[in-house]
Amino acid sequence: MKQDTLVTFIESVRDGVFVVDRNNHIISCNNSAAVMLGKTASALLGQNFFDAVEFQHNASVPSDADSPLTKTRLSGVVYVSESEQKTFTMSRADRTLLTVSISVIPDEDGKLIIIFHDTTADQKVDRAKSEFISLVSHQLRTPVNIISWYIEKLLAERKGDLNDTQRNYLREIESSNKRLIDLVRSIVNVSRTDLARLKLKHEPANIEELAAKAMHELEELSNLRAVTIGLETHIDNVIIQDSDQELVLAIIRTVLHNAVIYSPKGSTVKITLDLASKTLISKKGIIVSVADQGIGIPDEEKSMIFSKLYRASNVQALDVTGIGLGLYVASHFVHVLGGKLWFESTVHKGSIFYIYLPDKE
Ligand code: ADP
Repeated sequence: MKQDTLVTFIESVRDGVFVVDRNNHIISCNNSAAVMLGKTASALLGQNFFDAVEFQHNASVPSDADSPLTKTRLSGVVYVSESEQKTFTMSRADRTLLTVSISVIPDEDGKLIIIFHDTTADQKVDRAKSEFISLVSHQLRTPVNIISWYIEKLLAERKGDLNDTQRNYLREIESSNKRLIDLVRSIVNVSRTDLARLKLKHEPANIEELAAKAMHELEELSNLRAVTIGLETHIDNVIIQDSDQELVLAIIRTVLHNAVIYSPKGSTVKITLDLASKTLISKKGIIVSVADQGIGIPDEEKSMIFSKLYRASNVQALDVTGIGLGLYVASHFVHVLGGKLWFESTVHKGSIFYIYLPDKE
């Protein structure tokens, strides 16, 4: 990046930005970075990045040999800690703590641009969302159940016969109310405490069987939307010994459900089981990939897809119900399993979601 473009860019963003040379000396930083550390920008210039930034010493201190800085410099690939759901804690000059997610962008001559995003504000928003979700869902539960109780009574015709039109109207109300009950149920399931309490069952899981089960569960929906689902297995051993069947099924079901609902009529969704060691992951375990030919995810929204209640702009106009919780929950489940969930997507072309399910080494 040209020096003056770089300076304008650095000063224009709210996140803390540092530029370091090949020896990790800070050659530039913006005011937000200095404020985050409780120091002045001029005091930071020329200092070694790891002397200037006091990371808390835990398992993921980024000054290790395989730190994001070293990795980015060697690979030339941008590092985004957020996509690994990783944050770093450091102390400010006044000894208070700050938690950030880090992105590292390689620049020419071994220079790196390091961006600190303060996650404290995100956590506050997340907490507020959780409280709101919990309140709304509990308030909604009772009325939707009362509605279904009365619909059932009317449809039983004990208080008088219904004509065909009345019966059809009631069936419409019944099916919409069912959707509402499902939504409320899924919101309640997401309440923070439920996710925090989640424990791995440590049982064997037959991944091929679970993928087939998810396919079977979604048969009605895929028929309705004229989407064909196929399953291909490229491995001999489809069983993971130390896993959790319910969690694996829920993850595959969510990803497959999305592939079906965000795909056009007549298209195909392909589930593939591969050995993880044959892919970029190079660890023991299985990768389940789900490829669709659907609407895709816009580039600028890709980083938000796993956030709570987020739906991309291109799905909001579709006649598809969803609340943006499926992938948020699935990513928690994947985390409990010690796996990884990521995707590649091109608008109007399709998406591939990858689920890495680890097995004991
Ligand atoms: P929901 O589907 O209920 O909206 P999710 O958390 O499952 O919530 O997904 C979040 C968002 O990610 C969706 O609203 C959609 O914008 C996007 N998305 C997920 N899967 C796909 C896919 N296969 N194709 C296109 N967009 C997708």
